[in-house]
Amino acid sequence: MGLRLDMALNLLFQAGWIAPPDAKPHSPEWLQSVIDGLCDVSSRDALTGLSNRRQFETAIAREVDRVARVGEPALLLVADIDHFKKVNDTHGHAAGDVVIQSVANCLQDCVRPMDLVARLGGEEFAIILPNCPPAFGQTVAERIRKRVATQSVAIIGGQHLSVTVSIGGAFAPQWVRSSPTLWSERADQQLYRAKSEGRNRTCLDMPPLTVVSAEEKGLLFAGLAQYDPYSASGSDDAVPKTTE
Ligand code: GH3
Ligand code: MG
Ligand code: MG
Repeated sequence: MGLRLDMALNLLFQAGWIAPPDAKPHSPEWLQSVIDGLCDVSSRDALTGLSNRRQFETAIAREVDRVARVGEPALLLVADIDHFKKVNDTHGHAAGDVVIQSVANCLQDCVRPMDLVARLGGEEFAIILPNCPPAFGQTVAERIRKRVATQSVAIIGGQHLSVTVSIGGAFAPQWVRSSPTLWSERADQQLYRAKSEGRNRTCLDMPPLTVVSAEEKGLLFAGLAQYDPYSASGSDDAVPKTTE
């Protein structure tokens, strides 16, 4: 059967994909490169190169699962550019795009390689920070906010602009199974608070300082006692693990 790859290849060329130089077209190596390219295109935001909403949703679901299994603290930050409509209205949509790209680069530069920075749409971003102790949450969020505020963005025509962001954040409850929706809603509420308290600020929903006993942690998996982690279908993600 002949493969119909024209549309996929057009999309890839447009996104800057380059065929592996030594691979014959349609060889397994070449096809793997096409598949890798398509995965990349479908998980990235075209304007900024950040992860897109689809990739974010996959990552946050995985992180919720990991926090429940391993108990590490994880922080979700949501950032929204302040008064962004004014940038578009005053300087045009193209200048607005440059501002979005520059904020995206700034967010990416402020975090660790293991953190996932995504553009959720418009001028809204989210950052998942795995293994982020609550004591560092405010510091990280403030570092990002200050870095954006001090950055000068060169727009078309040689002018320079600066913008600010409001940031909301929430920690995933440790040793408890939350959901991506509940976690995101808590971060969004804090973003809403940051906006209503005047913008260009960070508001975090801090986790309760409850000490969870080893016995309580074990109860999380009590219902899975019959589960055989060594069965053929048991992928690593499905295996309940306790690290202590
Ligand atoms: P606030 O401080 O309350 O966030 O005010 P705001 O002006 O940023 O409010 P709002 O979130 O409503 O405005 C977002 C604007 O972003 C509206 C929309 O026209 C613009 N926008 C959305 N996507 C893009 C994009 O890809 N490029 C550009 N240039 N503008 C966009
Ligand atoms: Mg905004
Ligand atoms: Mg917005």
